Amino acid sequence: MKLLTVLGSTGSIGRQTLEVVAGNPGLFSIYALAANSRVKLLAEQARRFKAKKAVIADKRYYGELKNRLADTNTKVAAGRTALCELAADMQPQLVVNALVGFAGLEPTLLALQAGKKVALANKESLVAGGHLVMPLAMENKIIPIDSEHSAIFQCLQGERAESVESIVLTASGGPFWGRTVPELENATPEEAIRHPNWRMGKKISVDSATMMNKGLEVIEAHWLFKLDYDKIKVLVQRESIVHSLVTFIDGAVLAQLGMPDMRVPIQYALTYPQRMTSSAARIPWSKLDKLSFTPVREDSFACLALAYRAGRTGGSMPAVMNAANEEAVGMFLSGKIKFLDIPRIIEFVMNKHKVIAVPDYSCLVEVDREGRLLAREYAKKKG
Ligand code: NAD
Ligand code: MG
Repeated sequence: MKLLTVLGSTGSIGRQTLEVVAGNPGLFSIYALAANSRVKLLAEQARRFKAKKAVIADKRYYGELKNRLADTNTKVAAGRTALCELAADMQPQLVVNALVGFAGLEPTLLALQAGKKVALANKESLVAGGHLVMPLAMENKIIPIDSEHSAIFQCLQGERAESVESIVLTASGGPFWGRTVPELENATPEEAIRHPNWRMGKKISVDSATMMNKGLEVIEAHWLFKLDYDKIKVLVQRESIVHSLVTFIDGAVLAQLGMPDMRVPIQYALTYPQRMTSSAARIPWSKLDKLSFTPVREDSFACLALAYRAGRTGGSMPAVMNAANEEAVGMFLSGKIKFLDIPRIIEFVMNKHKVIAVPDYSCLVEVDREGRLLAREYAKKKG
């Protein structure tokens, strides 16, 4: 039995992680669960999976969580400190980080420092703090959950790093693929979160619509696979069946394919280096008439170019870009700015930022705050 902690258990990845656990009886046992504010669901999950601990980050829900779990053996705690202590807890073998945003970086660092393996969905950990995370993550200590990175990770099993020439991250193109810039001027949050192939949390859904998600993934791949940005390419694969590709120095290309279902890369991360059976849908080859690959038009998706620029600049630039993006996405979802203001805000914040070459964690916290502040100031001035 592998003992697991799931940070962000009430979110899209967190819930699917628990589905994988339930689908493999006898393989995993839940040590602890943590979430931000969905207290009713967290309590139900803790009860169902007999978690030893349950942590709610928002302290206002402590009393309710305690009441809901009063007749169980689950220990209850609340607040950011409790969440961080859970990440560093020595008991579980594996920590699944399914938190969203910069808030996920510190738990990733703490879990790795405590010697835990981390199944990582929280790509923002690597975007903002890849230079701090990767030195702690030797020997496959991080197993990626993000489908593209899981695909590359699978293609690289048994290969030497020197054999890799380049990689292609595939993108679905999101809900706005094929639209022109003027057509995106009045795009609404409802349209932006209606993804054609995946059901995900709101933040990553908007990131997919702007294609900042692919930008974040380029930076994530740079750190995970130690590749220069020139060796990381993006192609739109509308069907979301080819999850990514690796070109080797002899010209051979390996890809990982499957129907779009996050439970497959999640299960792989949980059972790695083994594979286990799964009831995930199989590719219906007889009905599949094509697999298409198309380059991205950067004029429609400015965020992708901004992310390459931030990654190549390095230092604190990806962190400030990430902060501006998180803040801009939040303002878009609450109707304060328009869809196309998202890249404008990010570019404004990046242009203002004075890059710090090797920021430590507390410096990144400052950079994150600065990025959010500048993003809000810009939006206020314009609005
Ligand atoms: P989500 O919004 O559905 O869930 C986020 C979870 O984190 C929730 O449980 C929430 O309670 C918790 N949380 C959020 N902020 C928190 C905070 N400050 N403190 C403590 N807990 C907090 O998000 P999601 O779609 O599951 O995505 C999670 C991560 O996985 C993101 O980094 C995303 O980019 C990545 N990812 C998601 C998918 C997907 O299909 N959903 C695919 C690939 C990668
Ligand atoms: Mg992805």
